[in-house]
Amino acid sequence: MSEIQETTPGAASAQLTERYTNAIMNTFGPPKRVFVRGEGVYLWDADGNKYLDLLAGIAVNSLGHAHPQLLGAISSQLSTLSHVSNFFATPTQVALAEKLVSVVTENSPGLDAKVFFTNSGTEANEAAFKITRISGRKKLIAMEGAFHGRTLGALALTFNAPYREPFEPLPGYVEFVPFGDVDALAAAVDEDVAAVVIEPIQGENGVVEPVDGFLAAAREITSQAGALLWLDEVQTGMGRTGTWLASEPSGITADIITLAKGLAGGFPIGACVATGKAAQLLAPGSHGSTFGGNPVATAAGLAVVSIIERDGLLANATKIGQYLVDSITALNHPFIVEVRGRGLLRGIVLNEPLAVKVADLALDSGFVVNAPRPNILRLVPPLIITQAQLEPFVSALPFLLDQAKASS
Ligand SMILES: *Cc1c(COP(=O)(O)O)cnc(C)c1O
Repeated sequence: MSEIQETTPGAASAQLTERYTNAIMNTFGPPKRVFVRGEGVYLWDADGNKYLDLLAGIAVNSLGHAHPQLLGAISSQLSTLSHVSNFFATPTQVALAEKLVSVVTENSPGLDAKVFFTNSGTEANEAAFKITRISGRKKLIAMEGAFHGRTLGALALTFNAPYREPFEPLPGYVEFVPFGDVDALAAAVDEDVAAVVIEPIQGENGVVEPVDGFLAAAREITSQAGALLWLDEVQTGMGRTGTWLASEPSGITADIITLAKGLAGGFPIGACVATGKAAQLLAPGSHGSTFGGNPVATAAGLAVVSIIERDGLLANATKIGQYLVDSITALNHPFIVEVRGRGLLRGIVLNEPLAVKVADLALDSGFVVNAPRPNILRLVPPLIITQAQLEPFVSALPFLLDQAKASS
């Protein structure tokens, strides 16, 4: 197919990759490309090849790359006040916390809620984990297939055994139940359970959605048992699925919500937001962070929120997400089972384990996507993306799938 470009990394990429290999721990495997520049929904590699970014730094760059207003907010905050430590308050930190409180209490206006800022998703989950421990009960219920991060606490709640087992012993009293199984959850939650932790959509597990009503049932079950409901919205939150929180349409309010990835559009930040009694559990001395909630990260978060509101990007995520479903379904390709997920958190389900190969071929053709599972291609593009920008990927997809099959 002649309209598909070829992106062949050259000498500049090869040189930097060699230096990477010599200087950086091999935790991520060999880097697939060396990127030097981004603008909007596009990236450029060290040899000048251009790519459409449908991964957005793993659901992080909600406003794409080098967004002028986000840049402006970050650089103006940097030149005003960049870091003072948490011995002190700053205006951007307070304003972003207030915004997150309103997001998390959308379904329970007026409910008390409070924020602890971190620098990443796994740290937001550590803060949440500590809240559950200090609640007085010790047992946690997590979901099969769950991913909550790589620190020891978050790892204890992560289902994938190869991630967990080399690092045992991990914090204990964690039990896993099948994701979406209301009866199993009801049976597991007793008066010893401190909290149940759930991703509204399991992104790392391949964009897996629970059955309808699961979150509402989990809310009911935890409330009855006096346990906390903790929703990990690190990947699904901050507009990714077309609403501020993926849990919002279910009508519930969680006791703890953790956020990170898209929150500051690429600037490192995380947040643990707790409501009601859970918001009062951490006290001076019980938790802390040097960098958490620093003025630059929180100014970036505020800018992201206000640009999403100003530019109608929640509605865009819903509209473009639907375009992806409709256009990819209309391809009627024999390897595509379905397109699942919500908003701009999408998984293309294949009937064969071709996804890793397809993602590599996509990269060679100038499209950045990834394969969280052998049969799942994940699309988490910037929330600013347009239909016209996505069309080349949709039309290339049948060719990529056929090529992957031919070379498998
Ligand atoms: C990415 C992710 C994390 C971990 O976030 P980091 O910033 O990588 O620590 C935790 N939970 C979920 C649901 C995630 O998708």
